[in-house]
Amino acid sequence: MIFRPRIPLLVSLLAVSLVSAPAADHLSNSLADAPKWKTLEKFQRTITHDEFERLLAGVYCTRGLSEDYIRIDQDGACILTDRDAQSWFKLRFAKSERDRRVATRSWRSARSLPKATKAKPLLGIRIALDPGHIGGEWAKMEERWFKTGDVAAIEEGEMTLNVAKMLAAKLGALGARVSFVRAKTEPVTPYRPADLREIARSVLQANGVVNPREDFDDSADPGKEQTVRWQSELLFYRTSEIRERARRVNTKLHPDLVLCLHFNAEAWGDERNPILSDKNHLHLLVNGSYLPAELEFDDERFEMLERLLSRTYDEELKIADTAAPAMARVTGLPAYQYTTDNVVKVGTSGYVYARNLVATRLYQCPVVYFEPYVMNSFDVVARIQAGDYEGTRMVNGVERMSIYREYVEGVVEGLLEYYKTARR
Ligand SMILES: [Zn+2]
Repeated sequence: MIFRPRIPLLVSLLAVSLVSAPAADHLSNSLADAPKWKTLEKFQRTITHDEFERLLAGVYCTRGLSEDYIRIDQDGACILTDRDAQSWFKLRFAKSERDRRVATRSWRSARSLPKATKAKPLLGIRIALDPGHIGGEWAKMEERWFKTGDVAAIEEGEMTLNVAKMLAAKLGALGARVSFVRAKTEPVTPYRPADLREIARSVLQANGVVNPREDFDDSADPGKEQTVRWQSELLFYRTSEIRERARRVNTKLHPDLVLCLHFNAEAWGDERNPILSDKNHLHLLVNGSYLPAELEFDDERFEMLERLLSRTYDEELKIADTAAPAMARVTGLPAYQYTTDNVVKVGTSGYVYARNLVATRLYQCPVVYFEPYVMNSFDVVARIQAGDYEGTRMVNGVERMSIYREYVEGVVEGLLEYYKTARR
């Protein structure tokens, strides 16, 4: 399940910051890192004009791009780095595909991996598993918890960790070097909501909430989002947590690929009396489809370019577009169709969308984000309550494997299919 913004422009107007960003920076939120524009120098003459335009129009800036931020001519692109000083970074294009320089990067594409063996088709691939959310005692706070009937509560953060652990064993046996972005139902970030209350207060103030309430009554409180507690919790489990995971991925794990593991959901309303749905579906996400308003932020514009120029898309799209049909075959799930305008369908499978999520943007390597199953559908609830088991069982009138093993099998089959054909 994906974090959805509750208050538009929630954290867009902040001057305060834990990392004390200078006021001249126009950053998307108070915990964002200021862009290091000079690091884009390594991408000089690594991309042609046509390829740059193709990636902007087809993947990254599918909702348009203002000349106030990026200007393109035949020789290069000028990217706004400081709107107050009107300074720009000049990226020079390669004259042709043959003249293209190759930039260094920390991850390896399937084609550049050493040869695999028949017994270990994933030999040597560094795969980081990112089980979505935190779970455990934090599950209610992150609103990834519901309880139906007298059986145990259902929480996404624990389920994604179950999947990650089972997946790690399978991938490891096939030769992959697996790491965990999160390995327990505990936050990765060292911050807690109490550390973020002053920032939360500033967020509320910037959004016109003067003298906010400190606390809210319960999850049904209609004014909860305007309280200091709710905002500080959001800053904790979303902003701070994902940014710390990105630091772990980019500075410690250095994977060739990150798999973000989630279960999707439809709106369930009251967590103790949840609405159950007949719907069940599947989609996968890669990074892209930045909204014009997002590109106005210095950090998001910089991170978009870093991603585009690193060519993560070439690799992550192929992986997602191969993994999605495998996943569909194993799970029998139909493709999810978005009704919002913040995504663009990419690839040919019909299951893959590009979307600008924090994790898919900040992890500096190919990232594939899995969103199978509607966890509050009648069918999935029954399967979660049946738990994990070997072989098959009759659940909700159908004989099948446990939902966790099915998820894992779908991912493994997809990766095997991709790497068997794409690597040497
Ligand atoms: Zn999720």
